[in-house]
Amino acid sequence: MSVRVLVTGGTGLVGQGIKYVIDTEPANSPFGKQDGEEWFFVGSSEADLRNAEQTKKLFEKYKPTHVIHLGALVGGLFINMKRKLDFLRDNMLINDNVLHNAHEFKCKKVISCLSTCVYPDKVEYPLDETKIHLGLPHESNFGYAHAKRLVDIQNRAYKDQYGDNFTSAIPTNVFGPHDNYDLESAHVLPALVHRCYLAKKNNTPFVVWGSGKPLRQFIYSRDLAKLFIWQLRNYDDVEPLILSVGEDEEVSIKEVADAVVKALGFKGEYKFDTSKADGQFRKPASNKKLLGLIKDTGFKFTPFDQALQESVEWFLQNYEKART
Ligand code: NDP
Repeated sequence: MSVRVLVTGGTGLVGQGIKYVIDTEPANSPFGKQDGEEWFFVGSSEADLRNAEQTKKLFEKYKPTHVIHLGALVGGLFINMKRKLDFLRDNMLINDNVLHNAHEFKCKKVISCLSTCVYPDKVEYPLDETKIHLGLPHESNFGYAHAKRLVDIQNRAYKDQYGDNFTSAIPTNVFGPHDNYDLESAHVLPALVHRCYLAKKNNTPFVVWGSGKPLRQFIYSRDLAKLFIWQLRNYDDVEPLILSVGEDEEVSIKEVADAVVKALGFKGEYKFDTSKADGQFRKPASNKKLLGLIKDTGFKFTPFDQALQESVEWFLQNYEKART
């Protein structure tokens, strides 16, 4: 039976991570391409998924049997605060068009991508798969958060009404090759890489905003890619699944900045601007459910320093074509 996997958002950070794993792991190995599988990685130039007609044409062209749906308007805190309606509306349209067509084209499986930043602002930690809807999201990103939460609601409605096999994944902070390094819209880790790079180039101080003390869980895009591939083949439940390193693998912003300084060989002045806000101190997510499910797969997370080094090398080699 032929398996045709359509990856929306296939040109982005996570999509390119999946492409890398599919292209480089040995055929028929646990995370490699299997006989009979075809993978299609598409970005917005192939179809604007906010547009119903273009989305339908995309499905007509690729006739997917399976979909990993990553396509989204994505960004860091600053841009989320500035464009709440765009984040709400674009993502609602994108998700509705993709899920509707996946249903119409009788896809056997869809995994859509949520995020731990769509969780309630006031919630008991650690986050787990049962807590997504237990309160309002943080004010700063409520557009993105509500749009993403609706995917889980839609998945349940498709299953309830039609028995569709639609589910979702919840990654924590992702980083890796093909990240968004644009200083206005980047997430914290690629922003630190870019700012340290500029400090080195211009011989200026590397200033990290805040105290550096907050803790976050970072997952390497190529590790996340393997988990998506595993989930596509093995996980048939509408309940979302957190894809993350463990709570004991939280890294402080200072540790990230130290690793960036080391990876870039930056020798100049390096300081913290404590007049800038720190954000939440920590918002740990539990990967207990995931670890229970993948324990026999041989999967291992890449050590943070190694993953960061690989990402920085990609950034340096691709500065001209990266999103900067
Ligand atoms: P990127 O910004 O790197 O990639 C976004 C992808 O979505 C690109 O392929 C882009 O296409 C595509 N896209 C955006 N708008 C449209 C549109 N209107 N029509 C079609 N395609 C569109 O994001 P990530 O790879 O980081 O994110 C992938 C998924 O992971 C998203 O759903 C995001 O919410 C989720 N996520 C990301 C996290 C992170 O830390 N980065 C954390 C948790 C979840 P193109 O570039 O060709 O325009």
